[in-house]
Formats: sequence, structure tokens, C-alpha cells
Amino acid sequence: MEYVSTRGSNKVDFVEAIHLGLAHDGGLLVPNVFPNLQQRMLETAHLPLPDFANVVLQPFVESSALEASLEHICQHAFSFPVRTKKLSDSLTVLELFHGPTLSFKDVGARFLAQCLSQIKEPRCILVATSGDTGSAVASAFSNLQNTNVVILYPKGKISPRQQAQITCWGKNILALGVNGVFDDCQRLVKQAFTDQAIKEQYHLTTANSINIGRLLPQMTYFAHQASLYFLATGTPINYIIPSGNLGHVTACCYAKQLGAPIAQVTVATNENRTFPEYLHTGRYFPKATVKTLANAMDVGAPSNFERLSHHFPSHADVLAHVSAFAVSDDQIKQAIIGAYREHGYLLCPHTATAYHVAHKLQPNEQCLVATAHPAKFEDVIEALIDEPVPVPAHLQRLLDKFQQVHEVEPTLAAILDVMTQYW
Ligand SMILES: *Cc1c(COP(=O)(O)O)cnc(C)c1O
Repeated sequence: MEYVSTRGSNKVDFVEAIHLGLAHDGGLLVPNVFPNLQQRMLETAHLPLPDFANVVLQPFVESSALEASLEHICQHAFSFPVRTKKLSDSLTVLELFHGPTLSFKDVGARFLAQCLSQIKEPRCILVATSGDTGSAVASAFSNLQNTNVVILYPKGKISPRQQAQITCWGKNILALGVNGVFDDCQRLVKQAFTDQAIKEQYHLTTANSINIGRLLPQMTYFAHQASLYFLATGTPINYIIPSGNLGHVTACCYAKQLGAPIAQVTVATNENRTFPEYLHTGRYFPKATVKTLANAMDVGAPSNFERLSHHFPSHADVLAHVSAFAVSDDQIKQAIIGAYREHGYLLCPHTATAYHVAHKLQPNEQCLVATAHPAKFEDVIEALIDEPVPVPAHLQRLLDKFQQVHEVEPTLAAILDVMTQYW
């Protein structure tokens, strides 16, 4: 498999693609073909997810140095369960939050970490986070040989538990609270990656969802669940995906392109409505980020839009495959209360956007993608349901650890300065 830039240049293999993060021309790397795997998916859907992932991802690492390690990588990356819960005849939840830091981002982060550790070259991972990426990446890379990790998060704009899960690691993990918003963090990462001298001096690699090594493994659970559903019912599945940076949505569209039996892909955003407005008007206007209850989706300029519009070159193509709805904080609150009252089920604020949208799309049967565990967002949920949210034991262990908090100004110079002092 070769990877090309959304802006035209580059033809690289998988290993080079994950090292580069961003293409030389500033574009995002994308697979240049999507083989049809439908038959193979249906034949192997009965296998556990790590084995199924090994089948689906095989063409994507073909003729790279990691081809022979894929099985090992999948076994270590997909090391926790993905579960489904049926809430009603028309509503199923795909729970992607049973990993070490309780969000779906554990999948991509652990896959990328396993890939990089198999390559065995010293790297510095630089990553911007709006909440959950940071903890997933920190956990995935903690104590891995030959890797240092720098995490930029918008200080004061993530939940206390998210912050605890980013700042509790120490050693090869440096967490920096940036005085700014998520878009500042993301801009700083992009800036570092477009500066060739800095990139080479620090051996920089990114673990953001702009890294194709994080995105590709996310195709697998969409494809797995869709195949199982198709074998059981004879119909393709509809997904509703809570979305910010559009990474998860892109992965789902890729899975569909591979032949996974997926019907509608519906995007649920919070008040950051850049993407729904694009679908509505045909014009793409990135905006300043708005702070919402679903903070891991607080993104005004979704970077994976460039991948999605490379995949679907015209507005009509996008519209034919994806629909999108924006959900307000008030609707998020009502969804959390409603799901608890009707089904005794706790939703995180991100998953709540999808739950709200599902009720718009009735009576069609929908599979909601649950992106984070409610215990990560107890501050929002407990105020609404007036009951404590139970804390899973592995979260409690992280929360009990010592937190190392560093604050930096939103400039690349300030960040490089702290890095040099720390290691
Ligand atoms: C990152 C994240 C999202 C958004 O995912 P994208 O791939 O950026 O669209 C949604 N929910 C949670 C809990 C997240 O951490």
C-alpha cells in the first residue's frame, strides 16, 4: 500500500507515513487505494476483534517493514473489549470506552504506539489534545523504549479527571498546559511539523488523528460490528458518530469504502457547527472554537475535513454519504437525563449528542457510537442525575497518582524551551 498527500505530493509506505505524520507539502497522508474486503470481513467476523483487525489492516501495512509484525501489534493494541448494549429495538450502543483511559482514542493511540515501538528508532511524539487524546497517548506510550512524548492541552479547558489522566505519568511523558484553546495547541503542532529543522533535530512524530497510524485501526471496530450485524440481520447498519475533528467519521467512511456493510453515516457535533454548516451550505468556513459540555469535540477547524473532502471530492459526494446535525449544550443535558430515565443508561456528553440525533432519525434503527465512559465526565453528569457516577477501578488508580503540571505560553519557542529543560 502506498500513501499519498491530500495536496498531491508524496508516495510513501506505511512506516514512512506514520513517521511523517503530515506530508511534506503540509497535506494529510491517505491510502491511495481501498481494496474490497467485504467477503473477507464477512468470513472473519466471528473472530475476536484483534484477529479481525489483523485481516482488515493487512493491505495497509503491505510492503512495509511492519508487515510481519501486524499480528503482534493488533494483539497488543486491541487488548480490551468493545461491547454492544441494546437500549431498545431501534437503538444499540457500540461502547468503545473500555480501554485504559476510557475513550475510543485508546485504540488508535495503542496501535500507533505498538507500531512505533516495533520500528525501534528514537522518536519524540508531539501531540495536541482537547482532552482524551492526551491521556490515551500518554498511557499507550508510558514506559515504551525509545519514545519521549510531549502533550499540549488547553489549560483549564478540560475536565479535572481528563487533566489527571494526562499529567500523572512522568518519566518519558511531558504534559504541558498551554495558555490558549485547543486550536492553539493544534496550530503549534502543525507549526513544529512544517519546520524541517525542528522536526529533524527533535525526531518529531505526531500522534494526533492527523497521523494515519491512529486513524486506520479505527476502521476495524466499525467494520467488525457492521459485519456481525449484517450476518445477523441481512441489513447494513446505520452509525451515528459524535464528532469534533472528523477523524472517527473519516475512519467509518473508509470502512464503508472497504466494503463493510454500512448504510447511513450520521455525524453529531456540539455547537461547533463548521461541518453541519458546510453540508447545509456547500461552503466550508472554519470558525473559532466554542466551549461546550462535550469538550473533546470542541473543534472549530476540523483537520480531517481535508481527508474527507479528498475522499469525497465534491459537496454532492459528501452529502450522498454523510449527514450531520449540531447539538446544543441544553440538548446534551436533556439526552443524558432522558437516557438515564428511560434506559437506566449513563451517557458521556459526547455520546449524548449522538443519542439526541438518534431521536431525530426515528424510527430507523441506529447504532450509537459511545466515545467515552461517563465516569470521565462526572462533573457534568452528576449535576444532572443527582447521583454519583461509579468510577471504574482502573480510572481510580490513575486519579490517585501524583500530577505534574507545567504551564506554557502558546508559542513553539516556549514549548521547546521546557522540553530541553525536562529531558
Ligand atoms: C476525540 C473525541 C471525539 C471526537 O472524535 P473525532 O475523531 O475528533 O471526531 C468524540 N468523543 C470523545 C469522547 C473524544 O475523545
